[in-house]
Amino acid sequence: MQTTEQRSHEQVLDDRKRFVSGGVSTPRLVVASADGARVTDVDGREFIDFAGGIGCQNTGHRFAPVVDAIHHQADLYLHQCFMVGVYEPYVETCRLLAELSPCAGTDQKSILVNSGAEANENAVKIARAATGRPAVIVFDNAFHGRTLLTMTMTSKVHPYKAGFGPFAPEVYRAPAPYPYRGVSSDDAIEGMKKVFKSEVDPQTVACVLLEPVQGEGGFVPMPPDFPARLAELCREHGILYVDDEVQSGVGRTGKMWAIEHYNGVEPDLLVSGKSIGGGLPLAAVTGRAELMDAVEPGGLGGTFGGNPLSCAAAVAVLEAVREPEFLEAAARLGERLRTRLEELAARHTGIGEVRGLGPMIAFELAERTPDRAKAIVDAAFERGLLLLACGLYGNVVRLLPALTISDDELEDGLGLLSDALTAAR
Ligand code: PLP
Repeated sequence: MQTTEQRSHEQVLDDRKRFVSGGVSTPRLVVASADGARVTDVDGREFIDFAGGIGCQNTGHRFAPVVDAIHHQADLYLHQCFMVGVYEPYVETCRLLAELSPCAGTDQKSILVNSGAEANENAVKIARAATGRPAVIVFDNAFHGRTLLTMTMTSKVHPYKAGFGPFAPEVYRAPAPYPYRGVSSDDAIEGMKKVFKSEVDPQTVACVLLEPVQGEGGFVPMPPDFPARLAELCREHGILYVDDEVQSGVGRTGKMWAIEHYNGVEPDLLVSGKSIGGGLPLAAVTGRAELMDAVEPGGLGGTFGGNPLSCAAAVAVLEAVREPEFLEAAARLGERLRTRLEELAARHTGIGEVRGLGPMIAFELAERTPDRAKAIVDAAFERGLLLLACGLYGNVVRLLPALTISDDELEDGLGLLSDALTAAR
């Protein structure tokens, strides 16, 4: 909407209540502008942003190369539909994804879509077409999206599944490692073997999907040995390994893809999204040509998938994040965050574990209720810090600052977090 005057916080929230579905959960923040690691609301209040639009701002709000690329693209053309007119930004995004892919095989191809959920749906379609098998295995604490298939694959009833059944068939769930809560890699591998005995014939399984660091499920990094052991089990049974890096990818863990932290594993398909578009909607499935070409022409795609503006932004993001200096700075940010969170955990009661991979980091409260995490997020908001909770029990507070955040902004944000922890005792 074009407005000459910014409407007040209350006016926007009143209209939000009146005109926007209650099925979308929203905070009190009404955004006027955002830059780097900061967001300003319509009353002129500035916030340090440790939420990043749920992990979509690894390069920060309005990253200059992204804004320039979008302006340049906007002057040429906006929508084309890749199925009507081929355009270079789409192809260039796929070329970069091929160059940067952690997947098995040298000849990598991609399909571009609008959201992480849509990309996961497409990964399953591709795996089914390539293997001729129907079943899918997912894990405890997984989050793969909100569409019918992906909410089926997601592992949390409220608010993602309750009332939305019947669910998609041929989706089976195995235990995921969660050392802090007593589930080891051995337990998870045994659990997977049990699924093969009790639930589904492995010969009918097309793929497994795993987040290397479970995101919505509580920022649970897979133990160092687990991805390779899972990949081995998949190989034994001809099952494809799908690496869902919608939240953990694009530098979030200090490497381009979180799976690069793990030895001995090359996924078959990579699913990326969120930060790849630098703030515009884009997601992708990447894998070796033999898999990506298993679908007949027309079987993949969509009207807006790989929109030119999103692709122009993605090229700028991928070119920036792949730079060794960018990733080294992100890794340093991760070390600093860990040290500072551990200090906070020593000073504040109730923090059970600080965990994460690089700057994809969180703390879990020992008590398995959402109350205190919610109080911390609210107290942080009152003090000018945007934070998010996550976890099956809503008792994990996660940090997703821009990887470009300055030292001063980081310290300011951590100071506010410390105050919020004190306030929400
Ligand atoms: N996969 C993972 C690991 C995610 O974290 C998310 C979103 O949080 C999704 C998939 C779904 O992405 P989207 O919300 O873009 O559909």
